[in-house]
Amino acid sequence: MASKSGGYCKNGIHKMTASNTYEHPNKGRLCRGCLRDYQREYMAEWRAAKKKAAARAAKKAAKQPVAKKAAKKAVAKKAAKRPAKKTARARR
Ligand SMILES: [Zn+2]
Repeated sequence: MASKSGGYCKNGIHKMTASNTYEHPNKGRLCRGCLRDYQREYMAEWRAAKKKAAARAAKKAAKQPVAKKAAKKAVAKKAAKRPAKKTARARR
């Protein structure tokens, strides 16, 4: 194996310096440069998946406008309950 300093990472693109090396508890020595690249790729994938999910949710919401109406009704019911409780207390 190459010495601690001066060597390159397993992908051969980053120099393995002390500040560029990450000691993983299970995987051993990892290259921070490769981790960064991996994370960037992962985030791009994650963002694309999020976009897809949002588009799917928007499609679903457009298909079912009834659910929104029901939620509004529930809020109205809650608001109507509040003053009724107050008057019941005042009567006592
Ligand atoms: Zn690397």
